[in-house]
Amino acid sequence: MSISVDIAKLPLLLTELRLPTIKQFWEEFAERADMEGWPASRFLATLAELELAERERRRIQRHLVAARLPSGKTLDTFDFSAVPMVSKAHVMALAAGDGWLDQGKNLLFFGPPGGGKTHLSAALGHTLIDNGFRVLFTRTTDLVQRLQTARQDLALASAIDKLDKYDLLILDDLSYVEKSQAETSVLFELIAARYERRSLLITANQPFGQWDRIFPDKAMTIAAIDRLVHHATIFELNVESYRRRTAVGRDAAPSATTTDADNCRPATTTSETGDN
Ligand code: ADP
Ligand code: MG
Repeated sequence: MSISVDIAKLPLLLTELRLPTIKQFWEEFAERADMEGWPASRFLATLAELELAERERRRIQRHLVAARLPSGKTLDTFDFSAVPMVSKAHVMALAAGDGWLDQGKNLLFFGPPGGGKTHLSAALGHTLIDNGFRVLFTRTTDLVQRLQTARQDLALASAIDKLDKYDLLILDDLSYVEKSQAETSVLFELIAARYERRSLLITANQPFGQWDRIFPDKAMTIAAIDRLVHHATIFELNVESYRRRTAVGRDAAPSATTTDADNCRPATTTSETGDN
């Protein structure tokens, strides 16, 4: 086949083909290829690689924006020595994302306010996005409100379906769901829909004992807990508030009341029951 080639049209062609990175760099690489005598195939492959790498970078950037993670809360800024019961190696393995997100396993972070639950969950979210996963961080009350509105519009199922695109949904502060919000069962329906398919990371001040107010009735509370813990890793960040500790300038040792041997047990629990 014979094609008439007009190099002057190349920028237009590359725009038409949606190859902005090649458009930006082809001249620079063409010059180098000519100078260093690259074979045409190497030149073409280099440009293709460049376009793909840039596309991936932009994709991750978009996912990061969409995730609505609190800014600055990354693993780099998380001080693991403040939570000796949480193994850094274990968190790092979870941050790689392999083997639990594709099985819809859950993470549960419990502990008093200021212990680092939000920070650690956001940090995990950040790293998972860097590793190509999709994450949404939300206050539980905000999401429940959104789902309640969807229910009023008879669109709850599709609202829950839309959340399927997220490999991990981080529900921060589950214990702050109000009684009036609990009266509709949207949270239960979300948990049931994601069960064994899509992962949840839930943070809460209170472990299960006080979850009665979060769901409409006792049976639903038990059913929700059952699904959440069936395939779950539980971290208990039972430490004094990091804020308070840094404010009073004491060193980062956790409070003596919470670091007895019992609390140094491995932070992982794969529980078949709802007890804690
Ligand atoms: P929680 O969600 O458990 O109430 P946060 O994650 O909001 O606690 O932590 C309270 C503040 O202390 C945040 O500014 C957080 O960045 C900081 N913080 C808590 N734990 C740590 C830690 N281990 N390393 C660094 N900063 C921490
Ligand atoms: Mg928090």
